[in-house]
Amino acid sequence: MMNTNAVPVRTESPDYLATLLQLGQLLNSSLELKQVLETAIEQVIAFVGAERGFILLVDVETGRVWGEAVRHIDRAALEATLTGNDLSNRAEISRTVVENVLDTRLPVLSHNAMEDPRFADRQSVQLTHLRSVLCVPLIAQGRLLGVIYLDNRVRTGLFTERHLAMLEAFANQASVAIENARLYDNLRRSLEERLRLQDELHRQETRRLALEEASRLKSDFISFVAHELRNPLTTIRGCVQTLMADHENTLPQKVREEFYESIEADADRLLDMINELLDVSRLEAGRPLTLAIKPVELCPLMEKLARRHRFYKHFTDRHEIVTQFAPGLPRTIDADEDKLNQILSNLLSNAIKYSPNGGVITLSAAPDGAQHVLLSVSDQGVGMSPEQVARLFRQYERVERDEIKNIPGTGLGLYLVKHLVDLHRGEISCESTPGQGSTFRVRLPVSTSEGTGSSSDS
Ligand code: ADP
Repeated sequence: MMNTNAVPVRTESPDYLATLLQLGQLLNSSLELKQVLETAIEQVIAFVGAERGFILLVDVETGRVWGEAVRHIDRAALEATLTGNDLSNRAEISRTVVENVLDTRLPVLSHNAMEDPRFADRQSVQLTHLRSVLCVPLIAQGRLLGVIYLDNRVRTGLFTERHLAMLEAFANQASVAIENARLYDNLRRSLEERLRLQDELHRQETRRLALEEASRLKSDFISFVAHELRNPLTTIRGCVQTLMADHENTLPQKVREEFYESIEADADRLLDMINELLDVSRLEAGRPLTLAIKPVELCPLMEKLARRHRFYKHFTDRHEIVTQFAPGLPRTIDADEDKLNQILSNLLSNAIKYSPNGGVITLSAAPDGAQHVLLSVSDQGVGMSPEQVARLFRQYERVERDEIKNIPGTGLGLYLVKHLVDLHRGEISCESTPGQGSTFRVRLPVSTSEGTGSSSDS
């Protein structure tokens, strides 16, 4: 479609080559394609004396068209015209010219579109008062990418064959740049998508493993608990049956008392375990444990715990419990007495339980600066490796080792202890050496008046 319909009026011979070279350099620059096209159209408009111009791009996959580097044309109106949605009939440009180039893939050069037999009868051409028009296709590897469009609504015969040749040369280079950018964009998008999918897979896998681990821990836990509840019950049942069968009262009083003590100790053990389970289920249900804070006298509380634990089921005559109180220890600390009892009692029973060969168990308290106290429970028992220590305060976590495989437990004790220490705004830590023993340290604030507040237990 090369009917130019009139003789070009421009005669000067501008430096086409230099301009083309400049445009080529621009296209090869490291700037963003959008920015390159903006600058390029600016230069082309200035060079050929066009009034308006734009680059129209077509998405090869979706067929969507849009204007890029739009100069002196209302972008929204332009896109409405191009997509055939121009209801206002403002006809910013003549769609006929652009469609002509898109359909034929041939350039259009018209010196006066209003009188050009190809377009003269088109209403849009008349409405826009189109005079000089230059429009070339953008084609790369046989694919139509869009058009470059220039016009002037005042002057006729503005564009020459040389302008056309120059614009076509520029269009060739621009097509390659646009196609490269599109390919690069596709590549980047598919890489991003792949990374996103990989990420998602990884996340799902991690979630799956965590769920598996949680469900494994929970089912291990259920079998431990079943075992743990059954053992004391069996003892209680056995004692009760023996006592009931003794109609003649033949059992010596001492044996009888031992049976009662045993029943009481196992009933206590069951009660402790059930309370622990209730605390944990309360936490799991998202209902926090609350504290009833008041001044607690430390030494008497610890002495009482030490005395009581000498009757603990696993305490043997090879065990010894000692208490140590460092000078300067505050007489009272602000704490929930029951919970503090629970914390120390748990640590103390563990120290006894995990020292199957006996040894000295030390329960001590010392000031730690003016604001804190450090309570510790140390034993000379089986100890733990650093990896075992690292998993210590997790729920249901029982460290599996041969030397303690017959020692009963639910793996809930330390999880609750940690929670209770946290509630007191304290810290708990453990130092341990396999075969040599462990020391658990609980650091608690002396006073909770700075913000901890007290709340009543429910
Ligand atoms: P449980 O004693 O019911 O198993 P805990 O939460 O109290 O649960 O303890 C978790 C694990 O930590 C125990 O299974 C045990 O292996 C280890 N542990 C706790 N205290 C000690 C200790 N003093 N010495 C050695 N190991 C301990």
